[in-house]
Amino acid sequence: MKVILFDIDGTLIKAGGAGARALNYAVKAMTGHPEACQSCQLQGATDNANFENAFKTGAGRKPTRKEMEELTRKYVERLPHEVLAAVKNKKYQKVKGVAKFLIKLSGCKGVLVGLGTGNLKTGAFIKLKPSGLMKHFAFGGYGCDSHHRSEMLKKAVERAAEISKTEIKQREVFVIGDTYRDVEAAKEAGYHQGAVLDGFGDETLIMRSNPELAVRDFSDMKPWLIWLGLEKDPKGVQRGTYICPDSPIEHAHYGRTGTDLKHIDARLKVLRTAKKKITGR
Ligand SMILES: [Mg+2]
Repeated sequence: MKVILFDIDGTLIKAGGAGARALNYAVKAMTGHPEACQSCQLQGATDNANFENAFKTGAGRKPTRKEMEELTRKYVERLPHEVLAAVKNKKYQKVKGVAKFLIKLSGCKGVLVGLGTGNLKTGAFIKLKPSGLMKHFAFGGYGCDSHHRSEMLKKAVERAAEISKTEIKQREVFVIGDTYRDVEAAKEAGYHQGAVLDGFGDETLIMRSNPELAVRDFSDMKPWLIWLGLEKDPKGVQRGTYICPDSPIEHAHYGRTGTDLKHIDARLKVLRTAKKKITGR
């Protein structure tokens, strides 16, 4: 059994800032602060943590439990409006290649596809609705399960085990996200980690968190399928086991990016020719 968990924002879709606008709206209604989210780092954190931080920015103190409930209610009520506005303004997008990738995964035997997101469950469904991708997800871990991403991921795996009625080992779980926080949470839980570079995450921070696989998006499924062990590695090795097929550097590069160093060689050739034109050597 393989369990694949997808983050939502920046990994499946980009909702054109709908979440931040809905949270700003809710915080403004309660504290008067118009742009609380501007000074909060929302990406990669769970909704509850974001709500608390945004409220704190607005009110200058932590929210009480009752205030958190009210804030959450206001956010969830406002979110459909903001998502719809993003769709209307053509700011709502699916991450490149993700729809085809999910169709491919749903046709694979022994694969369970779920959500691993910091969004509240209701918020997750509202954000995903216009994408039409919801049908691919049978279960998930959500921001309402835990403040901690790694705990949320474990909860998703627990649900996958319930659905499949099998025990799921850590090495059978693959987490796909777009920030270093997704990578770190997956590592903390002992799961495989793959990162989308074209999401909301800072690329330097993602690379520093050292995921097993880092790819721009899903337009080329091959590196993802090889990483997931659903397609044979042309170099004859498994992801994560860096036995050298050619050279250690070449293999490590292939393991990280799924692309061959020969592409870099080709670029270097172009640069060398350009340099020769100018310097004569
Ligand atoms: Mg994300």
